[in-house]
Amino acid sequence: MSRPMYLHNTLSGRKEEFVPLNPERVTMYVCGPTVYSYAHIGNARPVVVFDVLSRLLRRRYAHVVYVRNITDIDDKINAAASKEGVDIRVITDRFAAIYHDDMAALGALDPDHTPRVTEHLPQIIAMIEQLIARGHAYEAQGHVLFHTLSYADYGKLSGRDEQALMAGARVEVAPYKKHAGDFVLWKPSSDAQPGWDSPWGRGRPGWHIECSAMAEALLGETIDIHGGGHDLIFPHHENEIAQSTCAHGGKTFARYWLHNGFLNIDSQKMSKSVGNVLLVHELLKTIPGEVIRLVLLTGHYRQPVDWNDEIVAESRKKLDRLYGALRELADVEPAAGVTAPEAFLAALEDDLNTPMALAELFELARAANKAGDAADKARIKAQMLDAGRLLGLLQQEPAAWFAHAPAAGGAPTAEEIEALLAQRAEARRNKQWAESDRIRDALKARGVLVEDSKDGQRWRYA
Ligand SMILES: [Zn+2]
Repeated sequence: MSRPMYLHNTLSGRKEEFVPLNPERVTMYVCGPTVYSYAHIGNARPVVVFDVLSRLLRRRYAHVVYVRNITDIDDKINAAASKEGVDIRVITDRFAAIYHDDMAALGALDPDHTPRVTEHLPQIIAMIEQLIARGHAYEAQGHVLFHTLSYADYGKLSGRDEQALMAGARVEVAPYKKHAGDFVLWKPSSDAQPGWDSPWGRGRPGWHIECSAMAEALLGETIDIHGGGHDLIFPHHENEIAQSTCAHGGKTFARYWLHNGFLNIDSQKMSKSVGNVLLVHELLKTIPGEVIRLVLLTGHYRQPVDWNDEIVAESRKKLDRLYGALRELADVEPAAGVTAPEAFLAALEDDLNTPMALAELFELARAANKAGDAADKARIKAQMLDAGRLLGLLQQEPAAWFAHAPAAGGAPTAEEIEALLAQRAEARRNKQWAESDRIRDALKARGVLVEDSKDGQRWRYA
């Protein structure tokens, strides 16, 4: 591993060389979903971005431990459960399973661990006790609060002056708080609410403490990379740092903080009030997961991505091009031991520059289409497949890609097309050229392009 790898660290505000604390065990924690509803496309962005990063890390280091939590204690979950009159577990199991399947459809590999909050109450309670013992947290009216004034570096990640912020916010401050910026580690539950026994009575943890406790339980006190969406920097990640650092006597919590940018819809912020929230589960009904993934990787992860019909159509065409090149190499055995080209790897290792990496991949597709001799073809095929593997793309057979159902309604199914092409082949065997053309034109009118090649007929959705 000669080439250094660089990651932009939100904490320092600049790109830094990534050097793991222990190259024998590289650790990454990414904040996961609160499972009370379907994930929207903005939720999918960190999943895809950090999936690519985990693939890249695994390429460089023999042992990578990637943790993405499942938040299964939350007031929104409580609300959904009481609305249906079921236990919270019914809601969280249902939406955790849907989340898993939807993200898998986007080509995201399973993290090594997906811990649930309900399975880490002892660790959470122990950490809160530690914070109280060290003078960073206090109990008041059944609540336990983290005292932000007890941690001098509070606000460092987000660059916020917490005191000034609170002075200007004019928020109504709960009477049990010593300071407006103090945040909840534990809160009491009513008899009707889910709750767990604790030294402070029956209650439930606040949101932030879960990530600190689960990161420690699975990865240790200091982790290499902590990731999430840009919107988590404050207060969630700021609070995670305060909790973990103070519970561990000042030890660094996460060494590299990575945050992905926002996802807009048609240049607008996605929001319920605008009514433009796109659910992954719905999108997958008409758009192949691989297209969605490519859209999410088209921009650099720190930049905003704009989701719109044009970029979806464009991404579909790009995959047609890549799979088209691979289809031409269907009979070629990929060269053994050949990996993605250096320029491709260097792009990814430069703060996950996926736009540049994709440009290299398209360069390979162009080279594939021009390649003359067998050795070149074998090398390029191996390079394309390996580059695709790192991006989580091109992992299906070209034929399977071209058989994908199209977005627009009215196009025939793959089975229908195959049946018509069988008729067309029959017509051609009988030299009924007019009939052959009629079937081809009829398919074209329905959005299916047929090509005749030396290996027979090929088709794809236009
Ligand atoms: Zn978190």
